[in-house]
Amino acid sequence: MTSLFDLTGRTALITGSSRGIGNALARALADAGATVVLNGMDADRLKAAETSLSADFPPGRIHSCAFDVTKDAEVGRAVAWVEENVGPLEILVNNAGIQHRVAMLDLDVEDWERVITTDLTSAFLVGRAAARFMIPRGRGKIINICSVQADLARPTIAPYIAAKGGLRNLTRAMTAEWAASGLQINAIAPGYIHTDMTQNLVDDEQFNSWILGRTPAHRWGTVQDLAGPAVWLASSGSDFVNGQTIFIDGGMTVVV
Ligand code: NDP
Repeated sequence: MTSLFDLTGRTALITGSSRGIGNALARALADAGATVVLNGMDADRLKAAETSLSADFPPGRIHSCAFDVTKDAEVGRAVAWVEENVGPLEILVNNAGIQHRVAMLDLDVEDWERVITTDLTSAFLVGRAAARFMIPRGRGKIINICSVQADLARPTIAPYIAAKGGLRNLTRAMTAEWAASGLQINAIAPGYIHTDMTQNLVDDEQFNSWILGRTPAHRWGTVQDLAGPAVWLASSGSDFVNGQTIFIDGGMTVVV
């Protein structure tokens, strides 16, 4: 019997997968059988990630495509490249993201827009480009990597909070328009995960003890904590799950 979570023969594009959460999700989807396309902006880092992941899989299973998720024309060319050179795109993980820490009174509009464009507009651009191929085929899975900050606010990351809240609702908007065409669009909202993005917080003793106190599981999340939920949302095991945001946060959002 084929496993509910088997992704053999499916092509997946994971944005921002040259490192961090995206890289771990790419490995998890490949472990489940998918052919994966890695993405990032730094071409050298991306190539190194492709070489490293390729070592663990048969030839042809791991690819990479450097492009900027905020540039509509680059996104369109990249998705067309995947369709022509790798396979019909069936799984998209909108993961690429950035953070910019500064109090709102000191925040420049350029930095506000950079975060909103990278963390929110990009999911619309890549999602739309992918859906143009998925909808005529009547199948496709889109997973938007959101954050607990879609629900919980903290000082100094206003555009990030606004973008992630928007991404949660964009997940619902995509569902409203595309679910009837056989697409499932859902979001994963991670809690605090140890990556390059959060390294300075891990190193901050005061913040670190706040996190441990604030998280019922009493630990930081790891990138592996997100692998199971991502494989499930990418697989036919989640075919009637539509427009949901799954919080993977050690319980952070259910306690005060
Ligand atoms: P990292 O900083 O470790 O990695 C970010 C990735 O995004 C890199 O691969 C980077 O590529 C890529 N990227 C950034 N901007 C662009 C762009 N314009 N076009 C293409 N790729 C881009 O971040 P994390 O792994 O920690 O975070 C991944 C996602 O998870 C983000 O959306 C983040 O908001 C979200 N998240 C993270 C949490 C955490 O605690 N770490 C918690 C909740 C959500 P390059 O290497 O070329 O720079």
